[in-house]
This record gives sequence, structure tokens and C-alpha cells, in this order.
Amino acid sequence: MPLDAVPPARPALETYLEEVRAACLGLESGAVADYIPELAKADPSWFGLAIATTDGAVFAVGDCDQPFTIQSVSKPFVYGLALDTLGRAQVMKHVGVEPTGAAFNATLMDEENNRPFNPMVNAGAIAVSALIPGEGYAARRAAMRDLLSRYAGRELAIDETVFHSERDTGERNRTIAAIMRQARMLDGDPDEILDLYFSQCSVTVTCRDLALMAATLANGGVNPRTGVRALSAQSAPDVLTVMNSCGMYNYAGEWSYEVGIPAKSGVSGCIAAVIPGQIGIAAFSPRLDRVGNSVRAIAACKRIAEDFGLHVFKTPPRGESVVRRTLRGDAVRSKRQWSPAQQSALDAYGGEIRILEAQGGLFFASAERLVRAATAARGEASHVILDLRRTAEADAAGAALLARLARDTATGPGSLLFAHVPAGDDWASVRAAAGAARLFADRDSALEACEAAILAAHAAPAPDDPAPLGAAALFRALPAPTLAALDARARRMRFAPGDVIVREGDPADSVLAILSGAASVRLAAGEGGRSVRIAAIGPGGTIGELALLDGGVRSADVVADAPTTCAVLSTDDLRSLMAGDPSLARALTANLARDLAARLRAANREIRALEA
Ligand code: GLU
Repeated sequence: MPLDAVPPARPALETYLEEVRAACLGLESGAVADYIPELAKADPSWFGLAIATTDGAVFAVGDCDQPFTIQSVSKPFVYGLALDTLGRAQVMKHVGVEPTGAAFNATLMDEENNRPFNPMVNAGAIAVSALIPGEGYAARRAAMRDLLSRYAGRELAIDETVFHSERDTGERNRTIAAIMRQARMLDGDPDEILDLYFSQCSVTVTCRDLALMAATLANGGVNPRTGVRALSAQSAPDVLTVMNSCGMYNYAGEWSYEVGIPAKSGVSGCIAAVIPGQIGIAAFSPRLDRVGNSVRAIAACKRIAEDFGLHVFKTPPRGESVVRRTLRGDAVRSKRQWSPAQQSALDAYGGEIRILEAQGGLFFASAERLVRAATAARGEASHVILDLRRTAEADAAGAALLARLARDTATGPGSLLFAHVPAGDDWASVRAAAGAARLFADRDSALEACEAAILAAHAAPAPDDPAPLGAAALFRALPAPTLAALDARARRMRFAPGDVIVREGDPADSVLAILSGAASVRLAAGEGGRSVRIAAIGPGGTIGELALLDGGVRSADVVADAPTTCAVLSTDDLRSLMAGDPSLARALTANLARDLAARLRAANREIRALEA
């Protein structure tokens, strides 16, 4: 079969939903709601399931494209509109947030506060419908429809037949409105308010729509497909909270105990459930149990929650492994090429450097653990680097704790440096508290700064101290006259910052020893002439010494970072000197071999530390 004829694999979540559907299909108890004649026309066998993710993927099975009226599932969305329009305090005057334990259409009111108990029961929802903004019925009805459409990411319609059927048989709701009116809980024309309420219940959706609407709540109020905001980020948790405590009729308490997902149920047989930050779930099948929840939809949601442990309070302890590993500066070195004297100082004192490699999300608990680990490391080592490169998202709580750490360590003994601090506004406080001198774009430059500080503290040649030719590993331990002869042969070359000292691809026909200044080895990376620094070289370092072995071409650019002076010996000159002095040939070969062996040993030591 040609490749393009292979049918794409079904997404795992879709086959999973098929399984759930098959497992719940046999549930045939319950009855289709018939108190509104139009609802009674639903086919009891309809059964759709859908999951939408906060990045906009939708997985749907069964009767997932069957339209039905949203009914009470409109309530949380319209409540969100009221919160966004009037603000929490004002809305609270009209409706509370207390679960009732009474039937959805009870006439029970919170008499103490003279308001309905919560916006998920009919009385509260009618109070909320009264708050739909707009001039006149048509405009307010349009505002409501527009709101629900924004959640769904497409234009939703009102089923006028269901609307009229609701209205014609809405005696119970009229009674509720009358009681509220009498108790001055409701301002405005009760008929218009009820018509708005009946209209919102009669908006037609499919399971796919409802999953996306729930995913919009999961996504902090922004439809993950269209990117359009339907609810403010501030109101989203308020809506989810009342869904969690009051969304499932008289079953709300048990639902929250058993399933533990903010959800809302409607008499058409639908449930919309929200895993905050992750997914929206929609289930639809018209047969209802005694309290008015769809038998199959409840069973399906229960199963999904159980299978994946989605109960919102089933939270495993988080933050355990925020420190991926701790490295010591005697095992791991920066890419700076230090002179032999500097290397031995770092071998002796590098243990004063600790690198804390953080990983995973930085939220309150993980950031606190990281702060604790950094504080402990500061008790053991004089230089600590916090490497945040592998951290995933970081929230405001994580940033606040790290900002506090940065502030508390700004003075005092030892240093705490930060590498790879996340970009973004949340982290501005960390950057400000750390200050430019403690912020490093990468771990290597932070490590190099610590090494330089260690060298300075132990009176080893400091990074910027000029070094004679004999300080370089290649020329070490040569008899003084031999070194003097080499020195005399070497050309002095000066480079300004930015000058290319050697260029990748050029013939490798000389060895350069840096006498003063600083340079970095750079590799071109990607387009646009961007390059990455792979190593730094200072006085006592050499460039191109391997050319003595194999000639060939330069393998990278070396660029001066500061005014730099090099002693340059051509390989021809070196070879002719060696030909005339076999002891020089032996000494240089031995130095090269020793240097390579030292690098290999250092690499092994580093690999061991990294693999540990
Ligand atoms: N139209 C319904 C009513 O208020 C909505 C009921 C519901 O879905 O809970 O009677």
C-alpha cells in the first residue's frame, strides 16, 4: 500500500472515549425529561462524549454532533458574564454561593441575605439572567447568545421551538420569579427576565461545542481554538468554584466527593466538566436519574475521572525533584581554557563552587524546595550557581520565592549567581533583586565567573594577568634557553576586540599563545551569522596547538574579546627548530600528550559527575 494511502492512526484519546462509551452504553435506566414537551422528543439512545484540551484539540465519539439544548449548563457561563460586567461584590448582592441541597427548581431562598442561595439553581440563575447587560430584550438576548458563542468558538443558535415550549410550561419558574419579585430580589420586568432565562436554556450545542466551552473555562476564559476571551481570568476561578459546590443538582456534594471535578449538568442530559488548566469534558445522553442528571453522562465522567485520577484534590506531592543534581566546581569546569597553574588551583579549590541544576515547574512548593537547597548549598560552598535552564513553567509564586532568595543573598558571605532566569514579567522581580552582576545568560559564563573569583581568592594567576610564553601548557618546563629561542622566533600580534584571531577553514599553519587579553572560540550556528561561544581562552592558553600533530585547517573561529596580544609561532618554524633540537621535539610532544591526557581526564571526571 503506498504511504499516502495509510489511514492516519486514531488518536489514543478517541479510542479511549469509544471504550468508555461502550462501557456505559448498556445503562438504560432513567427517563428523558418530559416536563417540557419539546425535551421529551429526544432520542433516549443518543450518547456523545467529547474532550477538548486547553491547546484546542478535540476528541469526540458517538453522537458528538447531535444538537441539543444546553439547558442549565448555560448557568455558569451567564454567571461569569454577570461577574465580568458588575464585579464580584455587586453580583453577590443578587445571588450567593451557598449550596442548597434542595431541588434545582425549589423556591427556597437565603432569607437572611434576601437572595437566592447560588447561581446554579433556578432562582439564582434567574437572578443572574436579570443581570445580562444590554438595552432592551433583543439586545440582551443577543448579548447572551454572543457570550455562549464565544465559549463555543462558533455562532450558536437558539432553538425557538424549545424556547416556546419552556415558556409555555414554565409555571414553576414563574412562581420562583414571583416570590423573588415580592421579596425585592429581582429588579425589572419578570417576564423579560424569564424569557432571557428560557432563551439561554434553549441555546443549541453539540457535545463538541460543550467540550470546547468547558475547555475555555479550563483555559482561564480564553477559547483555545479561536483565542477569543469569553471570561476574564479573574472571574474564571469564581465560576469553577460554584460549579464545584453547586453544579450537579442535589448530587453536588456526592459528585464532588466521588468525581471531584467542577461540572454543570442540564436536563437535556448533558454534563460539562472542567479540569482546570487541562481539559474540558462533555457528555450527553438524555435519560436522567431521579435528581435530574444523565445516567450515562454521570457514569462516563466518573469513569474518566477514575481512570486518570482527575479528582481535583487528588494532588500528589509536587516539587520532589526540583533539584536535578548538584555539581561541584572541582568536577565540572567552565569552557575556559585555564593555564596549568590555574588548573591546579581549581583542582584544589573548585570544590568551593556548587551548581544547583533545577528542573520541572517552579510553583510554590518546588520553588520553596529550591530556595532551601540553595540556602543549604551556601552553607557548604562559597560560590553557588542556580541553573534554571531546565525549569518548565514558573508561576508568580515560584518567582516571588526566588525573588526573596535573591534579595536575601544580595549581601553577605559567598555569592549566589543565577543562570537562565526565565524571561517574562513574573520574573522581573527576580531579575531586579539579583541585579545585573549576578544574572548570567548561561551556566558556563556563571561558572567561569566563579572560577575567576576562586583564582583571585587563592592568589593563583588571575584570569586577566598577563602570562609569559612559558605559562602555556604546550611550552611548560622547557629549559630557559630553549624557551628564550622560541620567544625570539615568535611574532607578537595584537588584536582589538572583535578581531578574528583565527578563522574556521583557514590552514592551521601556526600556534598562538595568548600573552594578555581574552578570546573566545566560536562556532557558526544556524543562519544569520549567529555564533555560539564554545570556549574561552585567556593568558596562558594556546590556539591551534593540535596543528603540530596533523596540520589541516582551523576548526572554529577564535575572536578577541578584549585587546589581546598573542605570540605566534609558525608550524614551519617550530618543525625546523624541533629538527635541530630533538630534546625540544620530545618536550613539546610530551607536553601535548600530557595536555591531551589532562583534558581527557577532566572530560571523564565531568562525565562521571554528570551521569551520577
Ligand atoms: N429549562 C430548565 C428549567 O429551568 C433548565 C433546567 C435544567 O437544565 O436544570 O426548568
